[in-house]
Amino acid sequence: MARSVPVIVASGNGASALPSGLRILVRGGSALDAVEACAKIIEADPTDTSVGRGGKPNVLGEVELDASIVDGTTHRTGAVAALRGYLYPISVARAVMERTPHVFIVGEGAARLAREIGAERTQNLTPSTRKLWVERLRSVGETPASIRRRAKLLPVVRKTVREERGTVNFLALDARGDIASAVTTSGWAYKYPGRVGDSPIVGAGNYCDTRYGAAACTGYGELAIRNVTAKTAVDRLATGMPPDMVARAAIADANALEDAAFNIVVLSAKGAHAAATNRKGRRYVWMTGAMREPTIAPRILVGRARR
Ligand code: ASP
Repeated sequence: MARSVPVIVASGNGASALPSGLRILVRGGSALDAVEACAKIIEADPTDTSVGRGGKPNVLGEVELDASIVDGTTHRTGAVAALRGYLYPISVARAVMERTPHVFIVGEGAARLAREIGAERTQNLTPSTRKLWVERLRSVGETPASIRRRAKLLPVVRKTVREERGTVNFLALDARGDIASAVTTSGWAYKYPGRVGDSPIVGAGNYCDTRYGAAACTGYGELAIRNVTAKTAVDRLATGMPPDMVARAAIADANALEDAAFNIVVLSAKGAHAAATNRKGRRYVWMTGAMREPTIAPRILVGRARR
């Protein structure tokens, strides 16, 4: 079988994890192991306030984490959503894929599975993200005590949520030519409890197929769900469309729905890649087995057409 040059493509906030992922690939490890290992590094990093430990909480101050992993060769997938209290949601997602007859487990059930498989527990709300939460509540006239007493959260959530999200994407091609993808996030900051974005929804925020390539999203997840963005991107790769055109088309689809920040990274089965956004200054990162460090590259900017 033809050997591929291993490559990992990620959203900009994934840069610090790429060397570890590449080490796995150059030793002949699988794309699946590489994307999981990369995702775990960012999940455990409390300085990334959009993923895992240190991720921003929901409006009640609870950090609810979403993650998914896809094996592009077997089309096995696993996902968790609104998972609380565990350090590595991506590994719980992988356990859903490999150890259960299911593909998606949420909330209390996801935490129960995490406990059952001995996943590592943690307090995901850090002192600094707690402070940010309290400040946001104060800015809308609430306190931690007042918000917990409220019967109706919706009027508050309409004021606490702003364009403030974040997620990390990893797409990998290994030496055997297999592709895998992983996405993990704390979702939309100060969201309504139980809100689930695109990241754990296979086909929306994350999808890959070893025959054609992979795609994953960051930004306003509701748009990726409405457009089934990642699957649509891989379908476009399957037609022979190059990754830059695929990435542009995905942003144009998002722009057609609403004016909200939206980003995509795309990897083809041959290892070509591109990323696009509708906000200025956004970057993505990539690294191959031949490189010592990740390359940080600008995303293609696709503005919203005036109406
Ligand atoms: N897509 C994520 C979500 O909607 C957030 C983000 O990437 O900014 O949960």
